[in-house]
Amino acid sequence: MDHVIRAGTSALDGSGLELRTIYSANLIEYDWRGYDSKRVAETERDKWLVELGVEPPKPEMHAVRIVRCPQCGATDAGDVEDAFELARMSCGACGFVEWADDEEIKDDWNAEIEIRKDDRELPPFVAPLPPKRSGGFELRGGGVLVHRRAGYSITIPGDPWRAIVHGTDSAIFGGVRVWFEIVVRIQDYYFERTAEALARREIEDVVKRRAIPGTVPAIVTDPKWLRTSYPRPITDDPDETEVLYVSVKPGAKEHDWSAAFVTVRYAHHKGGRDAIDALCAELMASQRF
Ligand SMILES: [Zn+2]
Repeated sequence: MDHVIRAGTSALDGSGLELRTIYSANLIEYDWRGYDSKRVAETERDKWLVELGVEPPKPEMHAVRIVRCPQCGATDAGDVEDAFELARMSCGACGFVEWADDEEIKDDWNAEIEIRKDDRELPPFVAPLPPKRSGGFELRGGGVLVHRRAGYSITIPGDPWRAIVHGTDSAIFGGVRVWFEIVVRIQDYYFERTAEALARREIEDVVKRRAIPGTVPAIVTDPKWLRTSYPRPITDDPDETEVLYVSVKPGAKEHDWSAAFVTVRYAHHKGGRDAIDALCAELMASQRF
């Protein structure tokens, strides 16, 4: 299934029906989940009004307090588990997870934003938390994504790509011509015994949160990373899958580690598994950690 939206006018001129496209867009997952045809029609209307020299009507706004991922700004975020005074906060877009107390939730996960009064849903992304540390992700020329603090780099293959968001430790890219999404995330861990145990535990946790219930992850081990893939519940399409690579390297002190999570999502892609495997291979061959 392609997510291509076209809106336009049709006219019967005596000889046939003529269709004229005035709006056309290829949607990525974050767009189509929140797709609103009324908004598309309004955007078109406002464009025409401006052309006619008329000021478009201003929407009514109000302030709301929301939960959003501090790393990537996704509003698909919230508490997935509670224990004593702590909540385990999780992001559905970049996968960032942490235990947080009320103060940390207030400071890091809550935000006040202005939205339109007639908005049925929150925007998929708002501004993430301003960086607390320097040396986070930077997107350089040629699709090279660098994380200086972790000493990490990866090249996002294919052109053109667009960064949906790019926070300190999380970056999400969407394909323009084909339906792929790539998420790269860095997280630090302390007091862990081995890199392999850490990677396995994180993979199992991601599968528990994101896969169709009952999925048992097959974990493939490579000297540089652990990999798994699993179907996830979005629609009935069995091809909506995520591939996850977790790479771990030692941190500054013994039992400290930095982990890199690379996720490739490929729902609704017509190229089939070969194209996905080729994309994953190219992506991971470029990783330096
Ligand atoms: Zn996030």
